[in-house]
Amino acid sequence: MTAKISIATTSLAGCFGCHMSLLDIDERITDLAEVAVFDRSPLTDIKNCHHSDIGLIEGGVCNAENVHVLREFRKNCKTLIAVGACAINGGLPALRNKISLKECLEESYIDGLGVVNPQIPNDPELPLLLDKVYPIHEIVKVDYSLPGCPPSADGIWTFITDLLAGREPTLPDELMHYD
Ligand code: SF4
Repeated sequence: MTAKISIATTSLAGCFGCHMSLLDIDERITDLAEVAVFDRSPLTDIKNCHHSDIGLIEGGVCNAENVHVLREFRKNCKTLIAVGACAINGGLPALRNKISLKECLEESYIDGLGVVNPQIPNDPELPLLLDKVYPIHEIVKVDYSLPGCPPSADGIWTFITDLLAGREPTLPDELMHYD
């Protein structure tokens, strides 16, 4: 019996919309399960990435934990894919890049509308925030990028099945979008 392909997925500074789009492949997930197993992923709740053939990254990099997880994926995944606008260019979370981190925290936790107990969270357990939100390719080498916010289920399916078949992934124009 041929060994199954292993796939790991994670969400860094993302909204899980790209993972929802992956789940939107619907019943095709049973076809995927015939040939692949999921390693670390919100789908399995496995907490560490082991050696995997494909790593799918949703979200950009906004804190020290994101950096750690992303490096763990790069170290363990043969092929690493930036899935969605946030992973590719920072996406919506990167809107904060236009203002300083200090100003951002003050607006969110001190001066903003509706703040009732003004205090910037400083628990040492919280991951250290970075000065801005980075696209993942600025932290590690990325093999492929799959655009969209989120990419469509059909786009993700086409991309993954190309990879599983050992083909260079190509998306037809109708599945390629950037919104
Ligand atoms: Fe969410 Fe869009 Fe970012 Fe995907 S690209 S994590 S759908 S905001």
